[in-house]
Amino acid sequence: MLIDTHTHLYYDSMKERIENVISQAKNNRVLQMICIGTDLKSSEECIKIAENYDNIYATVGVHPHDSNEVPLNYLQELSQLAKSSKKVVAIGEIGIDHFRNLSPKKIQNKVMIDQMELAYDLRLPIVFHNRDADSEIYEILKNNSFHKALAHCFSSNLTFAKKLIDLGILISFSGNITFKNATNHDSLMSLTLDQFVLETDCPFLAPHPYRGEKNEPKYLKIIAEKAAELHGVTLDEIEKHTTRNAKIFFNLP
Ligand SMILES: [Zn+2]
Ligand SMILES: [Zn+2]
Repeated sequence: MLIDTHTHLYYDSMKERIENVISQAKNNRVLQMICIGTDLKSSEECIKIAENYDNIYATVGVHPHDSNEVPLNYLQELSQLAKSSKKVVAIGEIGIDHFRNLSPKKIQNKVMIDQMELAYDLRLPIVFHNRDADSEIYEILKNNSFHKALAHCFSSNLTFAKKLIDLGILISFSGNITFKNATNHDSLMSLTLDQFVLETDCPFLAPHPYRGEKNEPKYLKIIAEKAAELHGVTLDEIEKHTTRNAKIFFNLP
């Protein structure tokens, strides 16, 4: 069995046919999914979906793109959402995005740090997004407390992967490991099997040969197969380890 550690199931392409998405995922060995919130509204939607389906879990959080739009009381609201359901397993996705810089840098930093504090108080892990912001993210992670942290959609180099591992951070690889121009193969090959998990980040980032199409949890198997090939182990080995790592990280049954 595989666990998709990062999905945005509330997008129309999946929400409207969620039973079908779940059954197709199951046919491809994906038996559990984490639905990741990016603002208050989507966090609430993740919880709703998770409350309806046993094998789906939720996170609540504000994405760096959305950090400029948060209401003043957003931390209180996130806290209430997190406490409202046993299916909430982390705070995320939080983080820094200097690729698109949709929110001012200062605000991105503050919103990330504030949510880390919330996660710490609630004893929840964090799931973070990092695009072109290795050094900023590293400073924040080094200088603020967290119980557990997951580097989602890892696309940096091996040196950075090792720095994160030294901080006790779990790495997550997405469909970008299947792309011809992938830059993260050396990281994947160098990490041990207990240092990473897998995700689709659906509906974004569909793996090759579906690149550019709408992504879904069922494609996680393609990503797992690529990880197995790169690591020189069987698909069963990848499944066994990444599933175990995800279960421990998110405290899943
Ligand atoms: Zn992200
Ligand atoms: Zn995401």
